[in-house]
Amino acid sequence: MRVKINITGTIQGVGFRPFIYNLATSLNLKGYVLNNPSGVVIEAEGNNEKIREFLIKIDKEKPPISRIYSLEYKFLEDIGHQNFEIRKSNEHGEKKALILPDLATCKECISEVENPNDRRYLYPFTNCTNCGPRFTIIEKLPYDRKNTTMKIFRMCSLCKDEYNNPKNRRFHAQPNACSQCGPYITLTDNKGNEISKKEKALKEAAKFLDNGKILAIKGLGGFHLICDATNEESVKLLRKRKNREEKPFAVMFENIDSVKQLASVSLLEERALTSVEKPIVILEKNENYNLAKSVAPENSTIGAFLPYTPLHYLILKLFKKPIVATSANVTDNPIIKDNREAIKKLNSIADYFLTHNRPIKRRCDDSVIRIITKKPSPIRRSRGFAPLPVTLPFKLKRQVLALGPFMKNTIAVGIDDKVFISQHIGELETPLSIEFYEETVKDFLTLFDINPEIVVCDKHPGYYSTKYGKRHYKDKLIKVQHHYTHLLSCLAENEIEPDKEVIGFAFDGTGYGDDKTIWGGEVFILDYQKYERVFHLKAFPLPGGEKAVKEPYRVAFSLCHTGNIKSNSTFIGKEKEKFLKQMIEKEINSPLSSSMGRLFDGICALIGIRDTVSYHAQGAILLEQAAIKGETEEIYNFKISGKEIDWTPLIENILKDKKIGIPNSLIARKFHNTVAHLILKIAKKLRNERKTNRVALSGGVFQNRLITEKAIQLLKNEEFVVYTHQIVPANDGGISLGQIVAGGFR
Ligand code: ZN
Ligand code: ZN
Ligand code: FE
Repeated sequence: MRVKINITGTIQGVGFRPFIYNLATSLNLKGYVLNNPSGVVIEAEGNNEKIREFLIKIDKEKPPISRIYSLEYKFLEDIGHQNFEIRKSNEHGEKKALILPDLATCKECISEVENPNDRRYLYPFTNCTNCGPRFTIIEKLPYDRKNTTMKIFRMCSLCKDEYNNPKNRRFHAQPNACSQCGPYITLTDNKGNEISKKEKALKEAAKFLDNGKILAIKGLGGFHLICDATNEESVKLLRKRKNREEKPFAVMFENIDSVKQLASVSLLEERALTSVEKPIVILEKNENYNLAKSVAPENSTIGAFLPYTPLHYLILKLFKKPIVATSANVTDNPIIKDNREAIKKLNSIADYFLTHNRPIKRRCDDSVIRIITKKPSPIRRSRGFAPLPVTLPFKLKRQVLALGPFMKNTIAVGIDDKVFISQHIGELETPLSIEFYEETVKDFLTLFDINPEIVVCDKHPGYYSTKYGKRHYKDKLIKVQHHYTHLLSCLAENEIEPDKEVIGFAFDGTGYGDDKTIWGGEVFILDYQKYERVFHLKAFPLPGGEKAVKEPYRVAFSLCHTGNIKSNSTFIGKEKEKFLKQMIEKEINSPLSSSMGRLFDGICALIGIRDTVSYHAQGAILLEQAAIKGETEEIYNFKISGKEIDWTPLIENILKDKKIGIPNSLIARKFHNTVAHLILKIAKKLRNERKTNRVALSGGVFQNRLITEKAIQLLKNEEFVVYTHQIVPANDGGISLGQIVAGGFR
């Protein structure tokens, strides 16, 4: 196994490369370390466990004066390094000044905040050169205080001395501040009336949490809604007020030990939780899990994260219990960032507001990752990562702008071999999210000084991003198929060479197909220049279109109807059946779809787990949750005829199993196994025909741990090389990277 690590930070001229050299050679790893203009790149090849040890020890044993601002890693194919070497610095390359993401508070700053004798005791905006806000406060470049939202605060003489002293930890720390001169917090009621300020506000906020109240708290990239995660009444109330029925809430814990009490935490999960990026990490609950039931109902996992600003840190320190911390927004709108907006829009959700007077320039949601098969599997790449670049395995001939998809939108700009991907923007559904989207496009073009020669959008004519492209970039615009861009992003982050053909599985919810139907269960043979759709799920109508996504019983009915399968259970009632039947037969608002995501939904409804869903992909998630409880290696069958993967026998056999009383957990598990075996079967067939053993897995379905683990295991047993996402999400958050690649090869 080989790992590639990109690190930014104060790591040049501080003995970092010799440290890496010694660590790698002590673990018998081969590869190199090299400085480049943005930091350090490391490759290390060797024993699996040693590589993971290496990763963890970089954080723990690095030279004391070195500081890591970001560390992204991915596992790649072996290339047979012979020894470990310190390579000559690569000084050419991008000239762009690196814009850093927001950095979680460092240990030194935390210890000052904790120390009653320090002048920054309990000061929630403590930061230094090694930590604090960046991306969310920068108004323009260069990164100087006068170009940040900190410009309205005048440093006091003590702060100024620190700022001007090259020997001080705060030398040129642009957001440097203290309680005498910097921003401060205010606690208000839900009408905006001030209750208290500064330290007093902290203490009272903690008291309100203890009394079961819901607070809106202003963080780095926007507001969170928080409440006591052990108090069922509060969490339930938050759900009710936020109109969020079941989608799990993330929980912020005081420290890593408190996480470990309630969830199982592997070494890489611990590394992620405590890393400078401080993402939300999806963990399996353990047997001692005892948070309020409504935090993550019907789910074996919990999204956990640790405090990343002194404010969060202090609140948890005072409160002493985990808190629900969920982005404060109104359904389908972006995270709220301004004080007045917060009070206006959240006054019916939050009882109290803990705000501060440092303006947020850019919204930025928390990042989310999961560790699958001992590799990172990003779900959302945002705070802590954006806008750090992803490095391509080739140089772009032109500057490219990617407008992203519709769901989980991110945009990206590409120059040379770097792709700068935006923070999570979200669904482009409401006027506010569209405003945020347009701001971000302009923002990225300005920040990175890009004048795109090619602009890439999705093929879907209805996406706002497509319309935006047509309006602003008519002459430069190219439209690229959704699932092709999913797979391109997977190829690029796995550093596949341009002339190599790959077998790509794009299993996804929705994407506009070349034949104008909705694709999502696609198998491509592809490279960076072209793709061929070699297999796909047999299409079925979605009666009601978008409605079928929210009401999977419609899909269940359609599967039976289309497959001509007699289901003597009128599981949805005669009335609805008649209605759907007419809709399908008269082709009224019943677009055809070959989506694997919808097949998951349909089966979820078919076996009676859930008829309707309250959040995106819930059907698939519930089916996975059921499958986790069912231990079996059995599979169902798909029939492959021509290019079509026919699910009819699968549905028939599921109904048979259901009829004889096989529990849902076993049916769900068998179905999961089936999808993994289907991937293997098709991959083998294509290997024979096309002489390639490279398989890429992309699309939202591969956020499913069972499917992904099983597919990887089966494929590896048969000597396939498997590529999955480790840097950008397999879901639509990764599309913009694929769009840049497509644009770069035009
Ligand atoms: Zn610090
Ligand atoms: Zn000061
Ligand atoms: Fe997609």
